[in-house]
Amino acid sequence: MPSIVAGIEMGGTGCKVAISNENGQYDNNYSLQIVTTDPEHTLREIYEWLESKRSERPFVAIGIACFGPVDLDKTSKHYGYITTTPKPGWQYVNVVGAFRGLNVPVAFETDVNAPAMTEAALRGDSSAAYITIGTGVGVGLVLEGRPVHGLMHPEGAHIKCERFAGDDYAGDCPYHNSCIEGMSKAKAVADRLKISPNLLSKIPDDDPVWNIQAYYIAQLCASVIYLTSVKRIIIGGGLTKRNGLFEHIRKHVLQILNSYLDIPAITNDIDNYIVPSKLGDLIGIQSAFDIAQGIIEKK
Ligand SMILES: [Zn+2]
Repeated sequence: MPSIVAGIEMGGTGCKVAISNENGQYDNNYSLQIVTTDPEHTLREIYEWLESKRSERPFVAIGIACFGPVDLDKTSKHYGYITTTPKPGWQYVNVVGAFRGLNVPVAFETDVNAPAMTEAALRGDSSAAYITIGTGVGVGLVLEGRPVHGLMHPEGAHIKCERFAGDDYAGDCPYHNSCIEGMSKAKAVADRLKISPNLLSKIPDDDPVWNIQAYYIAQLCASVIYLTSVKRIIIGGGLTKRNGLFEHIRKHVLQILNSYLDIPAITNDIDNYIVPSKLGDLIGIQSAFDIAQGIIEKK
C-alpha cells in the first residue's frame, strides 16, 4: 500500500517539492516550485515548506531526485552530497543532511536514475535508460531492475562524440567542450542560433538546428544500446516538447547502428523503443515519490 510521501526534484535552475496524496500520487495543492539560488537559501526554503505542511499531510519519507554528480555510496562520508558540479556554490553540498531534522527516512538518487526506475516500472521493463534534454543533458540507467550506481553513477552525456557534418560549434561543456552534453544542451542549441536559451521556445519545429541536436542525442542512444542493451530508452526534459525531434533522433540512431544489431525491437519498432516520458513534466516529482515509497517498503 502506498503511503503519503514527500518528493524533491532538485534541479540546477529550479526545484519542485511536493507531498503526495494517500495513493502516492501528485496533488497540485501540495506542491511548490522555487528557483534554485544558493544552497543555504534553496534547501532552507524547501525544508520550511515541508515542515509547514506536515501537520496537514503527514509524510513518512522523503525522496530526493537530485542533479549531479552526487555521492550515492552509503559507506562514503559524502553520501547524500552533490559533489563536483560546475554549478557555482554547489560543490560538496550535503543535500540529504539538510532534511535530517524532519526525522523521516530520506531516499536519494540522481534526477535521471530515479525517472529511469519509474518509467521502467510503468512499462513493466526490467531495464531502461532515461535521457533528459534541457539546461543539461543526462542519462540514468536501470539494469535488471536496479539503478546503476557502481563507483558513482553513469555520466553518459559526457561521452565524446562525432560532429554533425558542417557543425562548427565549439561546444559548451566546461570540462570537455564538445562532449554530447556540450553539443546538445539548451545553451548549445541557442548558441548556434545566436539567441538566449530562454528564447528557444520561439524557434520553429522545422528549424535545422533540431536535427543537429538530435544527431548528438542519437549518439548517446547508440552508446547506451551498445553498452547496456537496455529494453527501452525514454527521453524527457524541457527540450523534448516539439514535433519532429523524436523522428530525427530515431532516424539518426538507425543510421548510426547501420543494421549491425539485428534486433526487431529496434530495427522494426523504434517508435516504441525510443519514446517520450509517460508522465511528462511530472516524471521528476513522481520518481522522487517512488524512491521514497521504496525506502518505506524496505524498512
Ligand atoms: Zn562534458
